[in-house]
Amino acid sequence: MPTTFGGPRVLLRRLREVMAQPTLPQDKLDRIVILIASNMVAEVCSIYVQRDDKALELFATEGLKREAVHLTTMKAGEGLVGLIAREAEALALSDAQSHPSFSYKPETGEEIYRSFLGVPILRAGATLGVLVVQNTATRTYTDEEMEALQTVSMVLAELIAQGGMQSLAANGASSGPSRPMHEKGVSLADGVGLGHVVLHEPRVVIKNLIAESPEAEVKRLEEAISALRKTIDELIERGDVSHGGEHKEVLETFRMFAHDQGWLRRMREAVLSGLTAEAAVERVQSDTRARMLRQTDPYLRERLHDLEDLANRLLHILVGADLTIARDQLPENAIIVARNMGPAALLDYDRARLRGLVLEEGGPSSHVAIVARALGIPAVSEIQNITALVEQGDAMIVDGSTGEVQIRPPADVENVYKEKARLRARRQEQYRKLRDVAAVTRDGQDIDIKLNAGLLVDLPHLEETGAAGIGLFRTELQFMVAARMPTTAEQQHLYLAALEAVGDKPVTFRTLDIGGDKILPYMRRVEEENPALGWRAIRIGLDRPGLLRSQVRALLRAGEKRHLKIMFPMIATVDEFIRARAIVQRELAHLDRHDRARPASLALGVMVEVPSLLFEIDEIAREADFLSVGSNDLMQFLFAADRENRFVSDRFDPLSAGALRALKCIADAGRKAHCPVTVCGEMGGRPIEALALIALGFRSFSMTPSSVGPIKAMALKLDAGAAREHMDRLLADVSGVASLRPALKAFAAEHDVPL
Ligand code: PEP
Ligand code: MG
Repeated sequence: MPTTFGGPRVLLRRLREVMAQPTLPQDKLDRIVILIASNMVAEVCSIYVQRDDKALELFATEGLKREAVHLTTMKAGEGLVGLIAREAEALALSDAQSHPSFSYKPETGEEIYRSFLGVPILRAGATLGVLVVQNTATRTYTDEEMEALQTVSMVLAELIAQGGMQSLAANGASSGPSRPMHEKGVSLADGVGLGHVVLHEPRVVIKNLIAESPEAEVKRLEEAISALRKTIDELIERGDVSHGGEHKEVLETFRMFAHDQGWLRRMREAVLSGLTAEAAVERVQSDTRARMLRQTDPYLRERLHDLEDLANRLLHILVGADLTIARDQLPENAIIVARNMGPAALLDYDRARLRGLVLEEGGPSSHVAIVARALGIPAVSEIQNITALVEQGDAMIVDGSTGEVQIRPPADVENVYKEKARLRARRQEQYRKLRDVAAVTRDGQDIDIKLNAGLLVDLPHLEETGAAGIGLFRTELQFMVAARMPTTAEQQHLYLAALEAVGDKPVTFRTLDIGGDKILPYMRRVEEENPALGWRAIRIGLDRPGLLRSQVRALLRAGEKRHLKIMFPMIATVDEFIRARAIVQRELAHLDRHDRARPASLALGVMVEVPSLLFEIDEIAREADFLSVGSNDLMQFLFAADRENRFVSDRFDPLSAGALRALKCIADAGRKAHCPVTVCGEMGGRPIEALALIALGFRSFSMTPSSVGPIKAMALKLDAGAAREHMDRLLADVSGVASLRPALKAFAAEHDVPL
């Protein structure tokens, strides 16, 4: 059986020499395939590079017919080469032609080679190409040979990533990681941002891939692993969940992996095949990442992510780099790119320099998304592998309105977005001019527009938008962005800041709405099959009143001698409201006992967001001081469609007859009982939906700051009476109509109402 000639270390040294020579990329590749073939005693060595269109083009070969270079291409998934690229896994076959994926390309003259060893050329988990060796004889490649070829492929990945390959591809098809790319994900926060990539966890740039002395590298690796274990142990011991917002659970997983023999063995083997310690870590990390990207089981995916994070820490220890970018190094026009991120980490960046945020994970209701919206930073998530697709400083555009990201955009694309940003800015300017204009419809109906808020960073929006107050203060946000439970004093401080910021305008504080998707990292989680329908919000407040009581106490203290409004989330029955009110009354009595002043006035309200309340709507309207429609949850529960699940969250239209009739009964009940009703869900912030709500009889809205301008502009042009008549007519005959949206849009167009 043939064995490798000189071993992988000799090969790596030779490769380094070739790479250091000032020759053209094609010459380098041609020499590399000869070196590999002779070192591995293979008759064939070929390099396929993946192009933009995912096709794999033969870029260099020793052994196959030379004319096939830049001619032979395998479509994505085609042949053995396509299979390796797709699966990102090595493949060794003693009889390649009997494999079901084998695809014969006559121009290569490949038919005489029986055995085949192919490995993906991976960089940070992304497939850049495939490296293949072949022999005429039927033979079994050893694990060492596979390991050696994978090590070589890592060095090749660097060569491909360095660029210069683009011009080599046939027919001008581009290849290599520095090409422009366009990805689509999920929008987290609206807006258009142009800027340059700042990797939240800067990738360690490994300058030295090939070891001088493998023994010394093994020692460096061992020392770094010990240091890594020590830092994790310390973090766990300190119980420090604040550092980077790590959960204890994640740290425990880290600890487990840091002792995982399989992982350690693979890194050691990579070092022994001739890589430096850091290159070995990266090589194993790249495999992990490739596996992770193909993993569909969310639990296993998460664990692979953890393992990848751990490898990242190890790399930072090895090269002595910082894990996160220093605040003062943040360039102007920064677009932060991260796998995921905690809200506190985003708040740590200088807002004035941020132009966008792009994440691999995190839904629109994730904590970081909430903060991005509060800061007014365009943000997009669910862009797979983005941290591997970009380099520090790459040009990037984030379009938060469509969820699109342009990576290294060509000039024409950039111009389109610049124009879009300019248009947006112009529109914002027009909205700013409306700041002091009262929102009154053409037929004289006052429309009350307030803001949704929850963090200190939200408060300046009040001044900017000229809103009539804060209609929904989500108190849980303070809890969600904190690393530990905020004390009563800290809560009181925030509530006071909100009350002072509004001056004599009202603020409606909503008590803690945690549980469901709103998870506090420091609170023990109850495992629930169905968290949205589970133990959350007021249910926790009533069952474990300690937390609610301390919050109410903080609210009452902040509201001393002021006008205070408190409302309760997820109320499902009138009885729940009565019990919640009793807790407030106890706290008022507590104030009296301690001779502390009460609020000048206190109104207690209810979020209408659980459908059962619609069938007690007259009673709750009589009982509560005010109602607030949480359309986000109300729609989720009405249609039984998870608002967090993108497969169903847009399935039903809130402008369909069923939803509109449900909403109408709330508006009607409020009017009948003289109980003020506000709409504080996202619906009220979308012009066409707000038009529908006005037509149903709602006059008060609370919304995100960026919606204030568009809603005011719409209301100023609307004849509310005419809209009401139109709505009544539409609702009178809805059989077979999926949604009233088209009819309402037509009404708006006909009456010149801007949407
Ligand atoms: C709602 O459900 O509509 C609402 C305003 O509350 P949240 O989005 O915080 O659940
Ligand atoms: Mg809600």
